[in-house]
Amino acid sequence: MSVKKIRKFNLFLLYFGLFCFFSIAITVNFGSLLLIFIQIIVGLISGGISVILSFIFWRCPYCGERFEIRHSRMDKIIFCPYCGQKIE
Ligand SMILES: [Zn+2]
Repeated sequence: MSVKKIRKFNLFLLYFGLFCFFSIAITVNFGSLLLIFIQIIVGLISGGISVILSFIFWRCPYCGERFEIRHSRMDKIIFCPYCGQKIE
């Protein structure tokens, strides 16, 4: 799998995790503690996996320099800013 595809998957996981946390504001009205608990766990796991995968894979495959973890214009780069190789 290419670096960019893994990155897209990571961002999906990250936003899915955030969505789980924000949706607690809705489910809290139903008073189900179990549902809130599940949302917190799923949010933490999905956010955690996303950060760990980013640490491991969001880097240049040629020179190994790590890119910014946060969602930034780095996500649109075509060439590595460190070594100039094309990133796929
Ligand atoms: Zn590079």
